[in-house]
Amino acid sequence: LDKFHIVIMGKIYERRKEQPTPNISMGELILDKLRENGDRVYAIDGPTGKRITYREILEKSVKLANFLQRYGIKIGDRIGIATENQLNWIIAVCASYYLGAIVAPYNPMYTEYEYQHILNVAKPRIVFVSQRTENLFVKMLPKLSWKMELMQLDDQPLTANIRTLKDILNNEPSVDYMRYKATNIGDSSRHPLTILCSSGTTGLPKGVTLSHKNLIAFLIKISTHEYMDTQDGDRILMLLPFYHGYATGTMLLGIYSNCTMIIMPAFEPKLFLNLVQEYKITHLPLVPPILTFLAKHPLVERYDFRSVRELICGAAPVAKDIIAMVKARIGAKCIRNGYGMTELSVVSGLSGRDDDDNSFETPGSGPLLPGFLAKIVDLETQETLEAGQVGEICYMGEQLMLGYWNNPEATKQTIDQDGWLHTGDTGYFDNEGKLHVVDRVKELIKFKGYQVSPSEIETVLLSHRAIKDAAVAAKSDERNGEVPVAFVVKQPDAKITARDVQEFVKQKLSPQKWLYGGVQFVDAIPKNPSGKILRRELRKMISKL
Ligand code: ATP
Ligand code: MG
Repeated sequence: LDKFHIVIMGKIYERRKEQPTPNISMGELILDKLRENGDRVYAIDGPTGKRITYREILEKSVKLANFLQRYGIKIGDRIGIATENQLNWIIAVCASYYLGAIVAPYNPMYTEYEYQHILNVAKPRIVFVSQRTENLFVKMLPKLSWKMELMQLDDQPLTANIRTLKDILNNEPSVDYMRYKATNIGDSSRHPLTILCSSGTTGLPKGVTLSHKNLIAFLIKISTHEYMDTQDGDRILMLLPFYHGYATGTMLLGIYSNCTMIIMPAFEPKLFLNLVQEYKITHLPLVPPILTFLAKHPLVERYDFRSVRELICGAAPVAKDIIAMVKARIGAKCIRNGYGMTELSVVSGLSGRDDDDNSFETPGSGPLLPGFLAKIVDLETQETLEAGQVGEICYMGEQLMLGYWNNPEATKQTIDQDGWLHTGDTGYFDNEGKLHVVDRVKELIKFKGYQVSPSEIETVLLSHRAIKDAAVAAKSDERNGEVPVAFVVKQPDAKITARDVQEFVKQKLSPQKWLYGGVQFVDAIPKNPSGKILRRELRKMISKL
């Protein structure tokens, strides 16, 4: 256990930290980094090659902060940002941080229905939009119960009276950005930095409030040699959507470690491969669908991946076979598995360099990050369980969110009176003190007295040659409570029957995991861009069976 410095107290696991996290604001931290790096390029837009240096961000973000302050933005005000991945995003985010305003990034693909919900959570005073999102916001403005102003991050607004970032910066007097000071936020563990949306996999997205200290603690750890090992001048390819916590974390990591971000607004196979090669990418933070692409796409073998030092896959389970294929195809020594949730400041466990070989046995396995305590509790009795026993994973520690914004009820349901956050995921600790994630509590299929994990059955299905994609869910059943039903996407031209699929599962898994609920062939599995199966959509599909 020495290897991970994990202290086991009874049935509680703690990964202690060597240094406490300093009490500084994210604004001050970023200003220092921007000043230090001067002419270094912070970000390059992949498709166009347009770039922005640390100094340009410094000058523009300080100007924007001055403008926003005169506009009336105060500490604690919320500022939304609803754009696709683009260079100006970081300017708006930094300016807001300096003022102690709270940044709420939104998915630019949300529909009006989804925005009606999520805007009401943070009630931002300003939202930065892009050409893609502007019209929808303009349409929504009159229906809101508070005053909100739109500002355009792209150079041209679609509506005449909307200010653009460009105009704001052109009209703003020059600033002494080397001496500018961020607003004092007091205790960094109490002051909110950002309200991030959870992915909305199980229901409507929640407004996860993270403090300055939450994310600073994350940056300090994740940048070290043991984890991302980010160093001066490293190049990180960013295709993660900016509105997600995984991306906010990675964008800030770039600044914290003096790196250059190569940004992709949307995933496109050839562009992705070209960028890796052209910019000699050192870090690839990815999600499972991109790993599948790397494992299977014919183009991949023609590209040089030797510059990549760290490849991380997180956000959803990934099949072991896929990992093996990617390693062989691109010559990667190690692919790390990151498990976490927005509520835990993105990541709580990451497989290490040395324990890579077995770290994909189960998704999310790996040692705790320093600064976390964890335990496994019985789903019914809430009793703390021993190593090897499966129950709900609970966490405590400095990366735990402040709560759900403006929703004390939901916060109370997630963080108990003793301060343990209940993840809603099940898993177990092995004898080495490593965590293994099994599945979401709510998705477990209750077959007679058994708890069956859909993702275990999905992994088996995906190992079948004729199956391109699959999802398993619970169907209610009079005799057994619930039974597993599979939705299967066939490979093109594959000839496979429902019966074949059922037989295949029978060969591999014990009887409680057989597909008693049947097999439905579908054209596609509903997923979000990070490869999470949209469980709420599956439930709708089942209700129609
Ligand atoms: P919502 O809470 O809105 O329903 P979400 O839980 O998918 O959506 P996120 O915070 O983005 O929102 O994702 C965290 C969840 O993703 C975890 O609780 C876990 O179920 C899953 N997850 C993350 N990383 C991994 C991983 N490496 N392996 C398996 N599951 C993972
Ligand atoms: Mg969640």
